[in-house]
Amino acid sequence: MELSEVVVAVDLGGTRMKCGLVARDSTVVHRETRPTPRAAGGQAVLDALVETVVELGQKAAADGYRVRGVGVVVPGIIDSARGTVRAENLAWLNVGVLDAIRNAVGPGPEVVLAHDVRAGGYAELRGGALVGTTNSLFLPLGTGIAAAMVVDGRLVSGDGFAGEIGHTRFVHTDAAEQCACGQFGCLETVASAAALARRYGDRAGRPVTDGAREVIELLAAGDADAAVVWDEALQALVDAIVLYTTLLAPTRIAIGGGLVGAGETLLRPLRDALAGRLTFQRRPEIVAAVLGEEAGCLGAALMAWDAVANLKEEEAV
Ligand SMILES: [Zn+2]
Repeated sequence: MELSEVVVAVDLGGTRMKCGLVARDSTVVHRETRPTPRAAGGQAVLDALVETVVELGQKAAADGYRVRGVGVVVPGIIDSARGTVRAENLAWLNVGVLDAIRNAVGPGPEVVLAHDVRAGGYAELRGGALVGTTNSLFLPLGTGIAAAMVVDGRLVSGDGFAGEIGHTRFVHTDAAEQCACGQFGCLETVASAAALARRYGDRAGRPVTDGAREVIELLAAGDADAAVVWDEALQALVDAIVLYTTLLAPTRIAIGGGLVGAGETLLRPLRDALAGRLTFQRRPEIVAAVLGEEAGCLGAALMAWDAVANLKEEEAV
């Protein structure tokens, strides 16, 4: 009997590594999560990633699968020409991630390294909220904010540097806070899930224990401080979406990440505010992303399978 084929997919974007063995038709034949040892430093994170890829490959073989590829997606800035990653929250400063994985898996499987948000957006484009679009945006509001941009049918990567909409300035008052990137007033400092929790804690004088989710509950319960931080987040988000819409004319924007749990509490005021701000521009639908936390891992698998398919085309030439 011919062996079934899978790719190994790992998403380093969240608090834990999300990993899977994924068949060509996107069936996840095995899934697991593992801790990301951030506190132990960048080398420990890289070692854990490589070990995970190797062990998942061994599991695939033990279960009777042939591993055709490896897709790894990470946060931060990926220099796709060099295969290096700069990600402050993983303590990586231009770490050679691609070579480390290639050396560990050896010749044979195709290895793809990509950005976690772009991978999530690709999964939404192929099998989620952005199916059927040629100009669209995946905008997850999580610990940080980055975007996956689909322009004229293609996912834009800018050689690995594109999509950092969270680091554009939308707060111009004295209230502008310094961002992790070093600048002041970035979108991420007011509209990420992490910012919402932090800013509510600062304003109300008591920290929330359940992050942005708690702020949304407080908002629903009529809490005045929650209403203020929420409104400031919405205003900055609308500014960002108006800019994106004016430049790139998406037909659909899928909001993802932790804040999408707020559902219509988030989406309806976004739609209303956007409608009030756009005049001649094509108005995008604002929808919730549908793949949730698994989007990055599924996108990593899709990208790995694409690399396998490209290899076949090259062999056929
Ligand atoms: Zn920033």
